[in-house]
Amino acid sequence: MPEPRVVLRKTSLVDYPPFISGVLFFPGCNLRCPWCHNRDLVLPAPGGGPPGSIGLSRALAGLEKRRGLLGGVVISGGEPTLYPALADLIARIRELGLKVKLDTNGLRPGVLEGLFAAPQTSPDYIALDLKTAPERYVELLPPEPAASPVPGGENRGRFAGGTPGAALRRSAALIRASGGAHEFRSLELPGGYFTAGDRAALAELAGDSPWKIRPFIPGGCLDPAWDRIA
Ligand code: SF4
Repeated sequence: MPEPRVVLRKTSLVDYPPFISGVLFFPGCNLRCPWCHNRDLVLPAPGGGPPGSIGLSRALAGLEKRRGLLGGVVISGGEPTLYPALADLIARIRELGLKVKLDTNGLRPGVLEGLFAAPQTSPDYIALDLKTAPERYVELLPPEPAASPVPGGENRGRFAGGTPGAALRRSAALIRASGGAHEFRSLELPGGYFTAGDRAALAELAGDSPWKIRPFIPGGCLDPAWDRIA
């Protein structure tokens, strides 16, 4: 099976504080959030990776070379839980003596459950994005199923069972119960996107966990209409 092409950010001071980290961005996503800034990762050119991407083994070699400088590696996307060998990747990064942070949209709770099953594949930190109320995730699905750009990855528009909202609830519960370091993250979306009910549903998902709300910055959105929303 051909290896995936990923985008490597060699050094970041902001993605996994307090560590200096490397970041691996995996292409492909099972959502199409209209405000997404990662067009090249979500919709990579057919047959090729996103611009600037390299093979995963080359990216890992680059991280290994910098292991003396780095404290951790962020595995991000797109949606990295679509990559079928994610557990092996986490274990390999650990073997380099580096910590692992996983960024996810939480729609693949079965993958998280698998990672939590063994200490060597359990991420040191998880950041789960809470986009909107679980019941509204159907609004964010791709218009139609499409092949995954990650070799061996799952179809981007298909869920292992239940609804995307149910998958999100399960992931949030798994992460809260894991005892591991984690945070929930949301964007403060403009244009009256959130109802009071949405906010209450998000707060319920976050529970007592850290919940970071960042401002929405227009520019380069998947749906250009979002660049014009004030
Ligand atoms: S989950 Fe949404 S914001 Fe994140 S990469 Fe996918 S489409 Fe973009």
